[in-house]
Amino acid sequence: MEFHNKQILVLGAGISGMSVAHILQNMGAKVILSDAKPIEKLNKDFTYLEKAGVILSFGSQDESLLNNIDYLIVSPGISINIPLIKAAQAKGIRVMSEIEVAYQLCKAPIIAITGTNGKTTTTTLIGEMLKTTGRDVVVGGNIGLALSQEVAAVNETGLVVAEISSFQLEGIIDFKPYIAAVLNLTPDHLDRHNSMEVYKSTKERIFANHTSENFVVLNYDDPLVRDMAERTSSQVMFFSRQAELSEGIFVKDGVITIAWQGQSHEIGLTADLKIRGGHNIENALAACGVSFLAGAKPSDMALVLSNFTGVEHRIEPVAKVNGIEYYNDSKATNPESSIKALEAFNGNIVLIAGGRDKNTDLSEFMQKVKDKVDHLILLGEAKKRFFEAADKFGVSQIHTVESLADAVQLANTLAKPPQVVLLSPACSSYDMFNNYEERGKVFKDLVRQLG
Ligand code: ADP
Repeated sequence: MEFHNKQILVLGAGISGMSVAHILQNMGAKVILSDAKPIEKLNKDFTYLEKAGVILSFGSQDESLLNNIDYLIVSPGISINIPLIKAAQAKGIRVMSEIEVAYQLCKAPIIAITGTNGKTTTTTLIGEMLKTTGRDVVVGGNIGLALSQEVAAVNETGLVVAEISSFQLEGIIDFKPYIAAVLNLTPDHLDRHNSMEVYKSTKERIFANHTSENFVVLNYDDPLVRDMAERTSSQVMFFSRQAELSEGIFVKDGVITIAWQGQSHEIGLTADLKIRGGHNIENALAACGVSFLAGAKPSDMALVLSNFTGVEHRIEPVAKVNGIEYYNDSKATNPESSIKALEAFNGNIVLIAGGRDKNTDLSEFMQKVKDKVDHLILLGEAKKRFFEAADKFGVSQIHTVESLADAVQLANTLAKPPQVVLLSPACSSYDMFNNYEERGKVFKDLVRQLG
């Protein structure tokens, strides 16, 4: 795809929008960067973009923005179904997401990881494993810088490992990762995708352009993901935590094992993993499968696995205070994620949960809380609904507080060894914080102040 001399409208002045606008303008395109928010609300410095010649347009967006535009690039925060984008499509303007641009600009093969949960952990782990091959490896996508910016750092001999959300997949055209992985599929973001069917088909776009030269690594234990094998032209490698597969990657007698093209390789014991929980075994399996297909040696992968301590805000050990371990799982912004965290412990949990309610079903979560949690401390906008659901499921020790500081103080008073204190909110953070990272950092500071 040619960008030089094209008229390009970038919608959304977030990290990826600003990055892609800058890159394309510098490549000789004529870029307009537009955001529906007024400039004062964005709180960002756009001078480098203006200097580069990008035209800025903030506030109301009407169809006149589309005049003479060749390509429209949509940021992941914007739904592809908004009227302006529909109007662009009707005019024949090519609409794409930032990862499509990244793909067009990238010289190295891309490895793309998607799924509802576990993307960052798995992508990070794959990055670590592939670095052992001696190739230049860039890890990006939802992590850190925008992918379109990251890909400039590698040539043909390198590798790009990218975490890809369903929002980014909505706007791909030619995007064809050399290896793709789909980790799992549970209801999330249904506010945007409307139905599970649409969400699933959006995820499947990750291998939409695949041919028999490509690979897709799929979760055998997740029926919706396993079923995707029926609709791909690529070579399928399944991973399974539950079944011993005749071909694929699985756990046999506690050992992560790959059976592939008539050969079998033992990688290491699941018991040696430092990342907690069954879900992290799944992430490790997926990472090993992808890395193996990309050329990493089993012995090198084993070494990485035994040293990898996880990603910040995901069941992250914070400190031991008065004999009590504190864990920060602020990234758990939905009940499924919090269930995974609860399953990673043998009970004895003082759980801090709540935040902005996504109004998802709480039955399974509260059943798990009943089984594993000694004290449930609730905060945020969700606390009333969570309280009622917990009460209905017979959770006996339920406490409500006004702030995270109060929650930590109360947890400190309540917890007695061998209990652990876990912040795993099952809600987004936006009622009280800018994002889950800030929530996790505040929690860690509060815990450290206890010591
Ligand atoms: P993502 O990038 O997809 O949000 P992360 O690796 O950041 O995934 O993990 C986010 C949360 O999702 C974790 O804190 C954990 O609770 C949950 N999680 C991680 N991996 C899995 C998995 N394989 N299956 C289900 N839940 C998971």
